[in-house]
Amino acid sequence: MTQAQAARLMDGTALARRIVEDTARQAAALTGRTGTAPCLATVLVGEDPASVTYVRMKQNRCRKAGITSRHVALPATTTTDGLVGTLRELSADPGVHGILLQHPVGDHIDERAAFEAIAPEKDVDGVTFASFATMSFGLPGFVSCTPGGIVQLLDEYGVDPAGKRAVVVGRSAILGKPVGMLLLARDATVTYCHSRTRDLSAAVREADIVVAAVGRPRLIRGQDIKPGAVVIDAGYNPGNVGDVDFDSAVERASLITPVPGGVGPMTIATLLEQTVTAAARQLGV
Ligand code: NAP
Repeated sequence: MTQAQAARLMDGTALARRIVEDTARQAAALTGRTGTAPCLATVLVGEDPASVTYVRMKQNRCRKAGITSRHVALPATTTTDGLVGTLRELSADPGVHGILLQHPVGDHIDERAAFEAIAPEKDVDGVTFASFATMSFGLPGFVSCTPGGIVQLLDEYGVDPAGKRAVVVGRSAILGKPVGMLLLARDATVTYCHSRTRDLSAAVREADIVVAAVGRPRLIRGQDIKPGAVVIDAGYNPGNVGDVDFDSAVERASLITPVPGGVGPMTIATLLEQTVTAAARQLGV
């Protein structure tokens, strides 16, 4: 018997770098033509260390790409009404082209009400009902960043979902559900799995494309990966561990995303890309 060949890695870091370089060129051209640099407003409630780090990382990437960022830091005691008010002000501010509300925002806040205070044309993180609807109908709008990044990775590696069985493990509004919708739009036959799925292994074994979006370290094992399947690990758990058991899955898959360096960098790249698109539309270019 021949030794199974290990999967090829889907290098999200390299693709994200190219997307950000391209985005920076577009931002520079836009600034040159209009005299206005694209601007992303970041809104953070409280001082959760992980959220502070994420927001800072996004601001740094913005700066490198020629996108201005405006940061609004709100105290942890901020109410739903207070947050909604801030987001409405930013939505109405012509100097702001994109809005990112770092989430989770805390249990005392109605997160959905806050998201819905973001104007759809500035929803570059793709979190509003309007963005979900336009994405689902294949109309122009903004996609949720991680799913958007995943689809770009599939394109980059020549994976055409048409006719393939795709199994998405996880059904959150910002990740699992939209990635399934994007795969459906590309003619995959999509199955969603979640915490109530009876036999997860059996479902995953059917998949030509597996997307793990769970938040459970190494939940998906190599023994359940169909030989030759494409494995996308969106999970990001403490210790840089994904939702897929990489060491066993890499022996069965044809393509696999590493953690870190797979899906993660694509999320920020998509955010920057969509911010420049939003600015171009608002500036009428
Ligand atoms: P979430 O809102 O907690 O959703 C997790 C989903 O997994 C839920 O649909 C849940 O099912 C399902 N689930 C939980 N345990 C399960 C199990 N044992 N078997 C099958 N399904 C199970 O999480 P999320 O925000 O979607 O994030 C998921 C992961 O992606 C996390 O590791 C997160 O850090 C990562 N993430 C990464 C990025 C990035 O940029 N790389 C961005 C966002 C998220 P129910 O619906 O039934 O509860």
